[in-house]
Amino acid sequence: MFDALSERLTGVFDRITGRGALSEKDVDAALREIRVALLEADVALPAVKDFVNRVREKAVGEEVIRAVAPGQQVVKIVHDELVNLLGGEEEPDGLHLEGEPPVAILMAGLQGSGKTTTTAKLAKRITDRHRKKVLVASLDTRRPAAMEQLAQMAEKAGVASLPIVKGQTAVEIARRAMQAGRLQGYDVVILDTAGRTSIDEEMMGEAARIAEITRPRETILVADALTGQDAVETARRFDERLKLTGLVLTRMDGDGRGGAALSMRWVTGLPIKFIGTSEKIDGLDAFDAKRLAGRILGRGDIVSLVERAAQDVDQEKAEKLARKMAKGKFDLEDMRDQLKQLQKMGGLSGIMGFLPGMNKQMKGQMAAAGFDDTMLKRQEAIILSMTPEERAKPDILKASRKRRIAMGAGVDVPDVNKLLKMHRQMADMMKKMGKKGGRGGMPGMPG
Ligand code: GDP
Repeated sequence: MFDALSERLTGVFDRITGRGALSEKDVDAALREIRVALLEADVALPAVKDFVNRVREKAVGEEVIRAVAPGQQVVKIVHDELVNLLGGEEEPDGLHLEGEPPVAILMAGLQGSGKTTTTAKLAKRITDRHRKKVLVASLDTRRPAAMEQLAQMAEKAGVASLPIVKGQTAVEIARRAMQAGRLQGYDVVILDTAGRTSIDEEMMGEAARIAEITRPRETILVADALTGQDAVETARRFDERLKLTGLVLTRMDGDGRGGAALSMRWVTGLPIKFIGTSEKIDGLDAFDAKRLAGRILGRGDIVSLVERAAQDVDQEKAEKLARKMAKGKFDLEDMRDQLKQLQKMGGLSGIMGFLPGMNKQMKGQMAAAGFDDTMLKRQEAIILSMTPEERAKPDILKASRKRRIAMGAGVDVPDVNKLLKMHRQMADMMKKMGKKGGRGGMPGMPG
C-alpha cells in the first residue's frame, strides 16, 4: 500500500530538495503535484484541500523560503502535516483496558472486513503485550460458521473462547460472556458482533443493545482498507449509532491506493488504533502515525535532521560561514567547524542531502572520496594538527608539513591528502553556491 503515492512524493521532494533557493512559485508547483498525488491515492478531497492549505500556510513563510535548505524545510512541513492528518502524536496501541474487570471490547464491522480474524489477533496481542487474561465470544448467531471460525482461531492463538451454546440470542451470549468473564477471572472480554454485507438497522440495533448491556471500554470498528472511501463511509455510519472509540484498518498489506487510511482519521475524527498487515495471527500492528508518515514519504532522515538542526546548529557560526562563502572563502578552519557541526547532527550521511545544491552525483563523488562518518573524527584530528596559518592557507602544505601533520594526528600522509582534496571540493562547491547567490552553510539558518 502507498507505493505509488510514495513514489510520486519522492519525485516532488527530489525536485525541491536539490536547490539552494525556492520561490513561492516553486512551492506552489510542488503543492499542486502533492495535491494530485493524494487525490490519485484516493484521499478524500476535503482532507486533501485542508492538508494542502496547511502546508502552504507554513511553507511560504519568509523563514522557510529564505532558509538555507528550503526544500528540506518543506519536506519536514509535509511530514508533520501528514502525521497530523493521520492522528498526530497519539500513543500507538493506546487501548483503554483500565476499570473493573472484566473490561468489554466490542468489535463491529461489515462481513468480510476481517472482523473475526482481527478479534483473534487482538485477543492474542492483549494477552501477550498487555499481560491480560482474555476471553473472546462470537455473537454472530446467524452464521454458525463464523462462531466456529472464532473458536478455532482463538484456540490456535492460545486464547480462551466462550463455549458455543446453540439457540441463544446475541444479547444472551453477551450476558453469558460477561458473566463467565467475572466468574472465571478474565481481565478482558472481546465480543465479536454479527457482521452483515451492508449496514442495516437490525444489525445496528443489536450492536447498540449489546453495548448498553456490556458497557464496553472500547468499541472498535474493523474496516477493510481496500474498500477505499466506502470504508470511510462505513465508519461514519457506525459511529453515529455506536459511538466508536477507534478503528482497525485491515488489509493494509494489500496493494490498494491507501487513501482511505489517510483520510479516515480526518473524516471521522476517530483514532486508527491498529492495522492488519497479514492473514496471520500476529499480523496486527499498532497504528503509528509518525512511522507511517515516514514510510510514505521515505524521508525520515531529512525530517529528523531538520528537527535536530533547529536545536543544535550554532547560529552565529553558520551566519559567519555564510558570509565568508558569499565571498568565495572557505578555509580549513571553516571545514573543521563544519565537521564539528556534522558530528553534532548525527554524521555526514544524513547531512549530505541537506546541503543546498548537493545532488546525487555530488554525493557519489564525496562517498567515492572516502568521506564517511567514521572519518569525521579523524579529519578533525588532522586539521587540529595544523598551525593556524596552515589552516588559513592550505596551499603552503608541502610534503614535510604533511608528514608532521600526519604524525600529529596519528594517520598516514595519504589521509592528509584526502582531507585536502575533500576540502578543495567543498570549497569549490561553496564558491559556486556563493556565486549563484544561494545561501550556504548549515540548514535552517537564515541567509
Ligand atoms: P469477517 O467476515 O469480517 O469476520 O472476516 P474474516 O475475519 O473472516 O476475514 C476475511 C478474510 O480476510 C480472511 O481470509 C482473512 O484471513 C482475511 N484477512 C483479515 N485481515 C486481513 C489482513 O489484515 N490482511 C490480509 N491480507 N488478509 C486479512
